[in-house]
Amino acid sequence: MNTEKTFEKLFGELPTVVAQAPGRVNLIGEHVDFLDGFVLPFAISDHTLAAVRARKDSKINLASMQRNGEIFSTSIEDLAPGNKGDWERYALGVLWALGITQGVDLLIDGNVPLGAGLSSSAALECSVATAVNKLFNFRHSLEDLARICQRAENAYVGMPCGIMDQSVSLMSLAGHALLLDCRDLSTRHIPFDLASHGLELLVIDTQVHHALVDGGYAERRGDCEVVSEALGAKALRDVTMEQLLAHKNEFTPTQFVRARHGVSEMQRVREAVTALEKDDFVLFGDLINQTHASLRDDYTVSCPELDLGVEVAQRLGALGARMIGGGYGGSDIALIHAGESAKMIEAIRLAFKKENFREPRFFTALPSEGAKIISLA
Ligand code: ADP
Ligand code: MG
Repeated sequence: MNTEKTFEKLFGELPTVVAQAPGRVNLIGEHVDFLDGFVLPFAISDHTLAAVRARKDSKINLASMQRNGEIFSTSIEDLAPGNKGDWERYALGVLWALGITQGVDLLIDGNVPLGAGLSSSAALECSVATAVNKLFNFRHSLEDLARICQRAENAYVGMPCGIMDQSVSLMSLAGHALLLDCRDLSTRHIPFDLASHGLELLVIDTQVHHALVDGGYAERRGDCEVVSEALGAKALRDVTMEQLLAHKNEFTPTQFVRARHGVSEMQRVREAVTALEKDDFVLFGDLINQTHASLRDDYTVSCPELDLGVEVAQRLGALGARMIGGGYGGSDIALIHAGESAKMIEAIRLAFKKENFREPRFFTALPSEGAKIISLA
């Protein structure tokens, strides 16, 4: 893709700044962000590009090559949270949250699969934020940019997402995962050099999205909060497994297993970090397997397609595999030996066909660097 040329064709001049920002995979720490927990995502090599140029008026023109390169026009005066619209709200939300006072021409292009659980939305937001931060010399820190992008998605798009996706897209280092403490938003880079260990990560996008059955996410979250409150803890993060087990009879069976997922998952993230610091990918893979079992049996957010992808990957020698994201569809990840992806993909494809499931999509990912400026006029 030649973004500069396309930009010139669309807007008549070359862009001043081109920035890129990656999508992400969360390795471990699922459904614990709202429990003040820890998450451990990494940036993938697929990224989104934002090319931008300042205008002399207050007009905003934007186009995405993933949306036919059609120009959408508005102006600074018309930026308002709650505006109806489609994809363009992700970019407009960032311009709004940045508080731009001068119009821009903006082109988006990229290869992060949309809606596959790899956070193309954060990649889009962070590419725009990085480019415009440079264009107008705002000098926001990465932490500020993450909050700005989150605000864009929360307030402008209306998606109540946390800050994980934006943090990892902006702050990652190649060959590392990013440990994010959801209580104080502090971060730590954890070595995760898959390539040099002959490993890679396979993403299996089941392409299904089932409706949530037997109670929603709010109910699960509520159950966890009931437990932490009853045990006098600020959040479930402050509850140990010993405490939970000692008070098991004070909770309903459902409350107990929901909390058991939260407590055990936060413990697994800690153990995963220790494993990675020792390059122990076998232990790390085992923890990922345990996370899947916990999401399936205790938190009950898996589905037959996600379970099948995990089962086949595990059977074929993946070091670890689990569902990722909200659940009831979406994607699995499998930590595999590089070079085994073709065999693995074939087997999963066949198994899905046999069950008459939708044909999954597959992506491989390696831990890559975060957002950066790639060209400057
Ligand atoms: P995910 O973040 O997991 O990919 P979301 O539903 O949160 O899924 O975000 C996907 C949405 O983000 C798309 O439907 C589209 O509106 C927007 N989007 C992301 N990347 C692009 C892009 N390159 N061009 C246009 N829109 C994009
Ligand atoms: Mg998203």
